[in-house]
Amino acid sequence: MSLGSQVLIKKGSFILMAFLGLGAWAEGLLAMDIDLAMDQERARMVREQIESRGIRDSRVLKAMASVPRHRFVPESELHRAYQDSPLPIGHGQTISQPFIVAYMCEALGLEGHEKVLEIGTGSGYHAAVLSLLAKEVYSMEIVEALADEARERLKKLGYGNVMVIFGDGYKGLPEEAPFDAIVVTAAPPQIPQELLRQLKTGGRMVVPVGRAEQELLRIIRTEQGVKVERLLPVRFVPMVPGKGDH
Ligand code: SAH
Repeated sequence: MSLGSQVLIKKGSFILMAFLGLGAWAEGLLAMDIDLAMDQERARMVREQIESRGIRDSRVLKAMASVPRHRFVPESELHRAYQDSPLPIGHGQTISQPFIVAYMCEALGLEGHEKVLEIGTGSGYHAAVLSLLAKEVYSMEIVEALADEARERLKKLGYGNVMVIFGDGYKGLPEEAPFDAIVVTAAPPQIPQELLRQLKTGGRMVVPVGRAEQELLRIIRTEQGVKVERLLPVRFVPMVPGKGDH
């Protein structure tokens, strides 16, 4: 190869690199712009959908104001990321309505030292909010692709105290039990007894129970047994039985 053509190749790759650099820079700027606009939308979401409906726990409000919900929805739903509704996340599943996430978190009464189990990782959004309210979060998901995506996303966004586990939530995680709090984000037809067994005495479980008609329940495990409180009528996707169980 002559010296001339080597110089030509070097020049060509320099121009190519400059173009790529410019592209990445422009993309970075665009992402910054989107994040900035989304910050404002998120602050409005907290004011208009959450505070105004009676959520008072300041740690919950702070966590809801901090977690970038737009990073947990598919690109096609970006413009609706801070809307007052659940949104599709693929595989027939949804990310819950922001108010419901805040409400369930408040109902758990977390102080920061707890070990929490979430059933139904989905996008990982609720798990990210919980990770700011508790010491550690174990989150189980029955759709492997969703579990993998959520694990990757949470890692990328720096939520280091969330462990995503691919598996059947009806079985819970006996090897990590007992938990201070359990939150179920898909609806089982009845209260899952195995999950109750994995709750500490004094621990709280928040779970939507029912089929077409569902009710959000808070179950507190006491020395004497369990205390069940009925909180709200709700609508969640069904909690599906694991393979081989039925
Ligand atoms: N918390 C999620 C939304 C949950 S949607 C978020 O913040 O995005 C309910 C999720 O529960 C779905 O992803 C569904 O696949 C999962 N799921 C349903 N049955 C389950 C089971 N038996 N065990 C674990 N996950 C289950």
